Amino acid sequence: MSGPLTPTDAPSMPLSQDAASPTVEVTESRTATVGRMTVRRALPKRGRRTIGAWCFVDHMGPLAVDENEGIDIGPHPHIGLQTVTWLFAGEVLHRDSLGSEQTIRAGQLNLMTAGRGVVHSEERTGRYRGELHGVQLWVAQPDGTRVTEAAFEHHSDLPQPELDGCDTTVFVGSFAGATSPARADTDHVGVELRMRAGSVTAPLIRAHEYGLIVTEGSITVEDAIVEPGRLAYLGCQRDELVLSARDDARAILIGGEPFGEPVLMWWNFVARTQDEITQAYRDWSGDVSERFDHVATSMARIPASPPPWLA
Ligand code: MN
Repeated sequence: MSGPLTPTDAPSMPLSQDAASPTVEVTESRTATVGRMTVRRALPKRGRRTIGAWCFVDHMGPLAVDENEGIDIGPHPHIGLQTVTWLFAGEVLHRDSLGSEQTIRAGQLNLMTAGRGVVHSEERTGRYRGELHGVQLWVAQPDGTRVTEAAFEHHSDLPQPELDGCDTTVFVGSFAGATSPARADTDHVGVELRMRAGSVTAPLIRAHEYGLIVTEGSITVEDAIVEPGRLAYLGCQRDELVLSARDDARAILIGGEPFGEPVLMWWNFVARTQDEITQAYRDWSGDVSERFDHVATSMARIPASPPPWLA
């Protein structure tokens, strides 16, 4: 997926990042276009760049796709982040410059760690016909790992702790006594919640901040109604969270220890300084770079426009 195009999408300095207390702040996602898909971008936004180490949330689809037309995002680079791809329906073929080629289906996790640099494409499988629906999230890597080598993991067997009134899948981190096997460079969590009509109490960690993205149906949190196209920021200092729904609903709960490092995001790069992003832009825009290697696909590379400070 491709990220924010301007630094105003993701200001480099913290704004009103007060994570000290519980709150329910509901904000509208922005509409963006990725490949031929319209997505609802819940993060980053002005005033809220991160929730834990999560720095980017796109809700994509549902969209009807077929053998000839799908997500179709050609090779593009990343640095300093992990891409977390999670589907509710459909199939996507991931290819990357490490040589990975992995089809992902609903309920499975593709986790790519960019580190100092990686390139990937996200393509139709050429077989699947039906609905494509999912999320892609990015995790900002901490200074301790963000300039190390790239990596890729696929997980099809993930823990599914049951809450009273809600089935869950823990794709990253720990929740309700279960821990995902996926790599986590910081203390963060990502969980799919599949609610039935009624209420559910989700156990949380007091020191973590949380956010909720509803992808199907409608969920009420305290007095706030959260629906597709909205992000509910929940703050810290909660031992539990009560959610209620009148009908079946699906949501992604993200959270983690507040990310203490300044983050500068531009396009597909997560860094700390403009110079780092300028170098990544130049490496991608040149013919060959050692950190942005070839991907074995017939799709065309996605070019980058210069960052605004170079234009
Ligand atoms: Mn991507």
